[in-house]
Amino acid sequence: MAVPGPVSLVYGDALMKHHLSDEHPLQPIRVKLAVDLIKSTGLIEHAHLLPPRAATIDELQLVHSPEYVDLVRKLSDPAQRGLVSQNAIDEAGFASADNPISDELHAGTSLVAGASLVAAEAIESGAALHVFSPSGGLHHAHRSRASGFCTYNDAAIACEWLKRRGHRVAYVDVDVHHGDGVEGIFESDPEVLTISLHESGHWLFPGTGFPQDAGVGPGRGCAANLPFMPYTWDEPWLTAFEAVVPPLLRRFQPTVLVTQDGCDTHHLDPLAHLAATTRIWPRIGSAFHELAHELCEGRWLALGGGGYAIREVVPRAWTLLFAEMVERPDLAEEINDPKTVEPGPEAQERVWTALRKDLDQLSAVHGLGLS
Ligand SMILES: [Zn+2]
Ligand SMILES: [Zn+2]
Repeated sequence: MAVPGPVSLVYGDALMKHHLSDEHPLQPIRVKLAVDLIKSTGLIEHAHLLPPRAATIDELQLVHSPEYVDLVRKLSDPAQRGLVSQNAIDEAGFASADNPISDELHAGTSLVAGASLVAAEAIESGAALHVFSPSGGLHHAHRSRASGFCTYNDAAIACEWLKRRGHRVAYVDVDVHHGDGVEGIFESDPEVLTISLHESGHWLFPGTGFPQDAGVGPGRGCAANLPFMPYTWDEPWLTAFEAVVPPLLRRFQPTVLVTQDGCDTHHLDPLAHLAATTRIWPRIGSAFHELAHELCEGRWLALGGGGYAIREVVPRAWTLLFAEMVERPDLAEEINDPKTVEPGPEAQERVWTALRKDLDQLSAVHGLGLS
């Protein structure tokens, strides 16, 4: 490994304010449980803890329309909420149970966006080389619309903030859901590469992200999408990751790497249908780590993301990732799943057949010369 550098973790209990409702699958306690495990394994001794702060209105408007930010603020204020028309609520995505309205909506999600900005600032100032902001990764929020549990898109805000400081930003999203919000915000931007690996939109929300979707206009070629069949397990997942991510990053030559590390790819996750185990995380972490040093002088901002097996999976997946950031995988060995989980032979055949076809298509669209 290249020169080690300081590593930071952005966390504070104030992030528990990012609470959508009691019944909602996105429970902020999962972030606290992950940080607790990072502490109890001793990994925290190899990092600095940074407190979050709220993003300012100007910072939210780096990627969101002023009208949308204003609407979210009004909806979060019981005195003003009744003045907002039902039509405006529908159009902004708040009529769905996925995105409930609450008094804490603006404050809670501004704090998540600010936490990811604290991470970006630490990297830009040189205070840290690698930073993990596990509350972040709210990748479905669009410029003027909430979606898929996400109100403000902290991932896109951090990418845009870094871009305005002169960076070429590579964003890699391994959440089981397509990173549609981030991709949409940067789809015509040649300075930001977005790569998303996810369960196919034929089976899963948000229903988008196919290999032919590669960006538009001047951003053509700066978005890459690889869908997976249900039951995709560790081996095909990692084969695809290693075939796609390093060559696209090496060609793009980013100066900073931003990763969305949703861990809802796990077979125990209740919201999706892939069959990965936590055994992919040391491999993902070490690949991101090595690529950040090879291409970006080490600059790596890792965000959280999805993960709804709150106690069974999320703390272990993110602790395994963090162990790679601080180069102490030995401290997390014992919490890894003991073995990979493979589906039956017919499902395996379906997974590999579809993957070969999708890799061929991605390769043709991006001129990668895979397979
Ligand atoms: Zn390093
Ligand atoms: Zn997800």
